Amino acid sequence: MLDPSHSEEKLRIEDLRSFKILDTPAEQAYDDVVKLASYICDTPIALISLIDEDRQWFKARVGLNAMETPRGQAFCAHAILDPDRVMEVPDTQQDARFVDNPLVTGDPGIRFYAGAPLLTPSGAALGTVCVIDRVPRKLTERQSEALQALSRQVVQLLALRRVNAELELVTKAQTLRHQQLENQQRRIEELNHDLQEQTLTDPLTALKNRRAFDTLLSHEFARSLRSKSPLCLLMVDADHFKAYNDAFGHVAGDQALMFIALAIKSQARAYDHVARYGGEEFCVILPDTQLNEALVVAERIRDSIKSIHGLRRPMSASIGVAYSEGISSPKRLVELADRAMYLAKQGGRDRVEIFLPPT
Ligand code: GH3
Ligand code: MG
Ligand code: MG
Repeated sequence: MLDPSHSEEKLRIEDLRSFKILDTPAEQAYDDVVKLASYICDTPIALISLIDEDRQWFKARVGLNAMETPRGQAFCAHAILDPDRVMEVPDTQQDARFVDNPLVTGDPGIRFYAGAPLLTPSGAALGTVCVIDRVPRKLTERQSEALQALSRQVVQLLALRRVNAELELVTKAQTLRHQQLENQQRRIEELNHDLQEQTLTDPLTALKNRRAFDTLLSHEFARSLRSKSPLCLLMVDADHFKAYNDAFGHVAGDQALMFIALAIKSQARAYDHVARYGGEEFCVILPDTQLNEALVVAERIRDSIKSIHGLRRPMSASIGVAYSEGISSPKRLVELADRAMYLAKQGGRDRVEIFLPPT
């Protein structure tokens, strides 16, 4: 028997392990091989035996119940020492190597053994396809050749199995890579979304910016035409804001703009759109709103700007209101809100005005 620490034996065990066949469940293809071996050689027992470090394990078997036996008792462990040849023991009781073997003296009472080594392309003999009888006998040359052919078939099956396992690994790696790419793609989409949000948001007040306002107004205007439900637009301009800046500085001015934004937002409904139109001007789109309702909202906004706490001095705003009925475009609606806001300025500021176009 080969010394397991011997380097060749180490390579053989490595080769055997690489097939990942040990202790796997029964498979039809291997079962068929031992059935054929037992038919062809006309023996009650046939096995595919794999010689592991300290046992022989049967991948397929007929006529034997044991799944494995100690390597020390294995006939096949002798057969693999001469891997190119079928090892035949015509009568175990006439063979000094086996006469005392427990498999000979006890169950299953082996008298005859023939094993064709499973020789891999790398030159390792993993085990055998073997046939066993309880009476002494000999294989014919054709039977011996058939046993060798079956052994080559088993090596083919093993090789296929290893290729399949490798393919599975490659597929798994590809799936993983695919998932990683998908995750990256999702992340990019999220970043794009964030970026787009940033390009639509005014950084000082966190309100929608002018760009977003233009898009929203177009949408709401088109929807208002479709649903024949009017919308209103408010233009809110802080009064004497330049003076506030001049008196308290630009930082205080910025702060005031944030407060004004919050004050307007606090009076808007969930489906209204509040935007910073530019500088100290804000717009509020009021979808599905009648003029009298818009006037109420505008007054509330005016009030809430006047009652902002935390300013260096009280602030007021002039608010222009425009109504979409009979208006041809969103641009025209903005013009009307702007004119209304100027009316409010002219009228003394801190007030709400409407500009209705001449019919
Ligand atoms: P009116 O009552 O006629 O509207 O007077 P006003 O001073 O508010 O109007 P004007 O157009 O003369 O001045 C607007 C000021 O708003 C001038 C500008 O410096 C200031 N402003 C515009 N954007 C900002 C900003 O982002 N931060 C600060 N602090 N000030 C701004
Ligand atoms: Mg202005
Ligand atoms: Mg102003």
